[in-house]
Amino acid sequence: MDETACKNCRIIIKSGNRCPICGSADITNKISGYIIMLDYEKSEIAKKLNININSTFALNIKG
Ligand SMILES: [Zn+2]
Repeated sequence: MDETACKNCRIIIKSGNRCPICGSADITNKISGYIIMLDYEKSEIAKKLNININSTFALNIKG
């Protein structure tokens, strides 16, 4: 698995080494599980994780 996620907002970063949302370069490839957010406005998980965009997110970040 060569995908990385932003440690700040957990979004999966498919290319580059910066988060497209918050601009952070604090990223990791130690991801366990994914959340594919299709309709964040109706999702309780999105509210819990403060997700406000439809994208793929890391469920857990290990390091
Ligand atoms: Zn971010």
